[in-house]
Amino acid sequence: EASKSLNFIEHIIEEDLNNGFSKDKLRFRFPPEPNGYLHIGHASSICLNFGLGIRYNAPVNLRFDDTNPVKEEQEFVDAIKRDVEWLGFQWDTERYASDYFQQLYDWAVLLIEKGKAYVDSQSSEEMADQKGTPTEPGSPSPYRDRTVEENLELFESMKRGDFKEGTHVLRAKIDMSSSNMLMRDPIMYRILHKAHHRTNTDWCIYPMYDWTHGESDYIEQVSHSICTLEFLPHRELYDWFLDQVYDKKSVRPKQREFARRNLSHTIVSKRKLLKLVEENVVNGWDDPRMPTISGLRRRGYTPEAIRNFADTIGIAKRENLIDVSLLEFHVREHLNKVAPRVMGVLDPVKVVITNYPENEEEWLEAENNPEDENAGSRQVPFSREIYIEKNDFREEANRKFFRLKLGGEVRLKNAYIIKAESCTKDADGNITEIQCTYDPKSKSGSGSEESLRKVKGTLHWVSIKHALEAEVRVYDRLFLDESPDTHKDKDFMEFINPDALKIIKGYLEPSLKSAKIEDRVQFQRLGYFCVDQDSTPEKLVFNKTVGLRDTWAK
Ligand code: ATP
Ligand code: MG
Ligand code: MG
Repeated sequence: EASKSLNFIEHIIEEDLNNGFSKDKLRFRFPPEPNGYLHIGHASSICLNFGLGIRYNAPVNLRFDDTNPVKEEQEFVDAIKRDVEWLGFQWDTERYASDYFQQLYDWAVLLIEKGKAYVDSQSSEEMADQKGTPTEPGSPSPYRDRTVEENLELFESMKRGDFKEGTHVLRAKIDMSSSNMLMRDPIMYRILHKAHHRTNTDWCIYPMYDWTHGESDYIEQVSHSICTLEFLPHRELYDWFLDQVYDKKSVRPKQREFARRNLSHTIVSKRKLLKLVEENVVNGWDDPRMPTISGLRRRGYTPEAIRNFADTIGIAKRENLIDVSLLEFHVREHLNKVAPRVMGVLDPVKVVITNYPENEEEWLEAENNPEDENAGSRQVPFSREIYIEKNDFREEANRKFFRLKLGGEVRLKNAYIIKAESCTKDADGNITEIQCTYDPKSKSGSGSEESLRKVKGTLHWVSIKHALEAEVRVYDRLFLDESPDTHKDKDFMEFINPDALKIIKGYLEPSLKSAKIEDRVQFQRLGYFCVDQDSTPEKLVFNKTVGLRDTWAK
């Protein structure tokens, strides 16, 4: 761990430590708003913040930034906790910005008393008109010079519930001509007569993000508050708000920014993902097509794969687009090590082995994972009628076709060498059956001369009478465009791939009868698959996680 090179946030921390900041005062937080499920972008932030905690042996809080009762729900709180734990991280304390509503209110009163905040009773349009432009100063609100007494009284009435939504706000009195628009008397509180998922109807005024975030960091004594780049211009305000309450003895939190993580062919925004859920484009937040942590989990991703992905790309100072194939590379790499190999046929054609006795069967030994010597082996049944993949057979083919063709030989994985003798077709010319003979002495692993005979191709197969039928869900990219939400003239919804889910019927070896939800396997020669939560012993359901190699059309 210590040998890994430092990222730029760690360099900032190292510099602080070199300048005398005490290591035991380091403290971090991951601050999601519970208004949706976490996505792959959040995974970067989780790995960064919890990674800092691990590197410096410092506590990391899980802080719910729950200041907007309109969009926040307990369901999202629960999902976020589940996802962070599943990724393999443990927070020190679970915190909620809403726990600080009283403290924030008291500090707001303090600001009013110091003449640094006032109640504005204009409409939001009027306030917007006075904001000015980045090159022209704004103009002051007619309410800017209200007396302290008047402000205190109005603010208390706001809190008591005397006013309708939109009639008053509390604003910080900073600088209407600042070159930073965010410093032009930003709103600290608005009236919202909405129940909150934790404080219920205790409050009808809610603090704004900028007022809440830094003060919450201060309350929790977070030393380094890491956020994404769009908050860079907010840093001045973060510091201004801290100046108002800082006691000069405690740890003073420092906001630092890194670039948001974008992934190709998908979107990383809870708000937009919510739209996909609400409009039933997908079947819920954990739909395997979704870039959510829970969607990736259901798709068959491992926490290790997601962490390795995040660690490999690291963090950047500038936004960039990461190709989704890099994420797939990491899951493939991890599953290659841990996923047992099994056989399943997803697009079957029947093969009859004409010289194999009609009512016989035998159970053959099959290695579970050549990458893992402790993975052991299992038995797979063989009989006269088997399925192979349709595209593994051609009547005629050139010498580069190493699969089965008439007159040619292949090895059946874990079993025998077969030779295609003839085939049967239906009226449309589709092949309905292939007749083969097998070499009884060529059994894999038997050590016989024939078993060592080299044939070019090896095919996977299943014995028809032993096969389990399964529903197999195969996924494609959710969006046809590389960056669906960056087009000025088009909505991201226009780029949805209508064929991102295909449901097929597969035939699987019987050892999968006992597969459990979330079990991950490699269907040999096809890819990695996992058992979906919809699966039952009567009706198996598998999701395709990823193919064996990168086959996306570029
Ligand atoms: P969204 O737009 O998806 O709601 P957000 O930033 O509003 O994103 P939060 O719940 O506030 O979502 O995010 C929690 C933390 O995760 C924040 O520190 C935020 O900066 C970080 N984060 C969110 N999205 C990304 C991303 N795509 N890449 C890196 N970090 C992210
Ligand atoms: Mg946010
Ligand atoms: Mg957001």
